[in-house]
Amino acid sequence: MSKYLLAIDQGTTSSRAIIFNQALQHIACAQQELTLSYPKPGWVEQNPELLWHSVQHCMLTAIQQAGLSANDIAGIGISNQRETTLIWHKGSGKTLYPAIVWQDRRTSAQCQLLKNAGLEPMLQQKTGLLADPYFSATKLAWLLDNVPHAREQAQRGELCFGTVDCYLLWCLTGGKVHATDASNASRTMLFNIHQQCWDDELLQLFNIPAPLLPQVRDNASHFGQTQSEILGNTIPVLSMIGDQQSALLGQACIEKGMGKSTYGTGCFVVVNTGTQVLNSQHKLLSTVGWRLAGKTTYALEGSIFMAGATVQWLRDKLGIIQHARDTEALARQSNYHQSELLIPAFTGLGAPYWQPGVQAALFGMTRNTGPAQLAAAALCSVAYQSRDLLCAMQQDGISIDSLRVDGGMTANYWFLQALADLSQTPVIRCHTSDATAFGAAFLAALQLGWFNQMADITALWQSDAQFSPGLAANTALALHQRWQRATTALIALNL
Ligand code: ADP
Repeated sequence: MSKYLLAIDQGTTSSRAIIFNQALQHIACAQQELTLSYPKPGWVEQNPELLWHSVQHCMLTAIQQAGLSANDIAGIGISNQRETTLIWHKGSGKTLYPAIVWQDRRTSAQCQLLKNAGLEPMLQQKTGLLADPYFSATKLAWLLDNVPHAREQAQRGELCFGTVDCYLLWCLTGGKVHATDASNASRTMLFNIHQQCWDDELLQLFNIPAPLLPQVRDNASHFGQTQSEILGNTIPVLSMIGDQQSALLGQACIEKGMGKSTYGTGCFVVVNTGTQVLNSQHKLLSTVGWRLAGKTTYALEGSIFMAGATVQWLRDKLGIIQHARDTEALARQSNYHQSELLIPAFTGLGAPYWQPGVQAALFGMTRNTGPAQLAAAALCSVAYQSRDLLCAMQQDGISIDSLRVDGGMTANYWFLQALADLSQTPVIRCHTSDATAFGAAFLAALQLGWFNQMADITALWQSDAQFSPGLAANTALALHQRWQRATTALIALNL
């Protein structure tokens, strides 16, 4: 009998494949970096073939590293970067255009038109989302309007639209299955989260032909079989779930009111709101956490676009560090009281500001400003933005006693202490840095009957490090207020 699971974590900056045993212990992992391209200001794209090849490479390498063969793998779970939008030919499987990545802002003007037309409350009511280029709908409309002949082909039913989960499933099954899951569908701005179906009124509004759309399934289900040539045997795909929802599950936040924050490329604070959709009055998103046996668990989410990506900017554009981890030693040479304040609006600002047009700025420079101050400013900017989100959640009636954290940036102890200090919230790091893959693996295990119920994940979760707020509350408040004043001033400048 096959006794292992393979979880795919297809992220923005890398693809990963992780092998878990029946106790959901991590056995082997393979990772491959991915590059993004920025063809115009505000545009962010990815090569779909390289994305798929990286997943294939990681799956094969992880199986090999574990000393296993495809026969030992009972099932595959997929978690993925969300909203990133692809279209491809049904016949050839060839994509028509690069993947438009979630951070891409090319449709800002269209979103402003939606706001001007007073349509945002309707969008929020149906989808839980706000009129922002972040979501797939305007990206898909852009593809249909700008890729030659795409619209005619879509109307003739010759094309498929999908987010990354859906595209990977298509590739894995050799073009046999065109399906997504409820969590990924809920990020498109075309999906009615109350009725759990594609919304005709929204399809009309964005001028999207219905034949393009994938079937929407529960997060744990038999999605299809992989083609035998890919891994050497056919393996069932048993779960698919958006990365942030997967991390919510991977952090065992299965009860209403439990929340986590993931610090990867972006930062995403997500709180389980149970069977109720909570309509945010403070610009947070309502979204599908997961849907199992037709029963939906909802979540409230605050999304920040630049977290680890700001660290990458220090590395790739300023060249002041060689590795992301170098920020820790540099930041230790400064402190929170430095004058330098970075507003990392490199791709606009997400929650709770939702300002796609605003650009980044560094305030408070002196002759002393150097790499140490920039590193501290970059890490603090993520902590301040996290506090923004926790404040918005509190105003929406959700208070979080402690924050369970995961993602690449949580390797950085200076950052985690800054997060606890500046947000005045205890921070608990999860035992696995792969909370995202862990959630998808758990769903696949549930589907296989290795576990009986969602509550079984609680016993599998452990913390490995905790950080308590060590800064006086009024000092943290004053520092956050300074951050808010600077952010508000930058938005008002509207350069
Ligand atoms: P994603 O899943 O979005 O691709 P990951 O969870 O793999 O992201 O995290 C990668 C991000 O974490 C990168 O943007 C990187 O800059 C950042 N990162 C990794 N290690 C550190 C560190 N020690 N300190 C600060 N940032 C880090």
